[in-house]
Amino acid sequence: MQNTCNGCTLCCKLLAIPELKKPLNTSCQFCAVGVGCNIYPNRPLSCRKFNCLYITGNLDKKLKPKDCHVVFEKLPNCAIYLALIDPDFPNAINEEVVKNQITQLLQNKFSVITSSGPNSTKNLMLAEGVTQEEVWTKVNQAYKLMNL
Ligand code: SF4
Ligand code: SF4
Repeated sequence: MQNTCNGCTLCCKLLAIPELKKPLNTSCQFCAVGVGCNIYPNRPLSCRKFNCLYITGNLDKKLKPKDCHVVFEKLPNCAIYLALIDPDFPNAINEEVVKNQITQLLQNKFSVITSSGPNSTKNLMLAEGVTQEEVWTKVNQAYKLMNL
């Protein structure tokens, strides 16, 4: 059965939403935490474009973002995932289930960028045969596509 957000609103905390001037890692003013979006039919484009691997990849239930404290976001038009770590749970990245998911992405030729802490410090894990420069170029192109 397809995964659902039911009970999770972590992306509405971790993501930056330029249209709302919402910075990273702060709860959105329109978020009913643990319930959902109060303006869902009219939510901004950035929210609509967000691609959550838990939902689209129908990941193991242990990887539900509200429980594992990490949101895996697929960037558009490239083989790159962001792993956004809830700053309230900085050690979430060391949990076995999260590490296994990152390993699986790398094996499937996706590069992974973890982002954590108040300054969103980034750590890049490269898929085989890909260079750092190639990844950052693709990230910039993806951000332009998302208007970030
Ligand atoms: S992080 Fe994923 S599962 Fe959680 S609310 Fe956002 S889209 Fe739904
Ligand atoms: S507008 Fe809605 S979907 Fe977008 S971040 Fe806020 S609560 Fe989440």
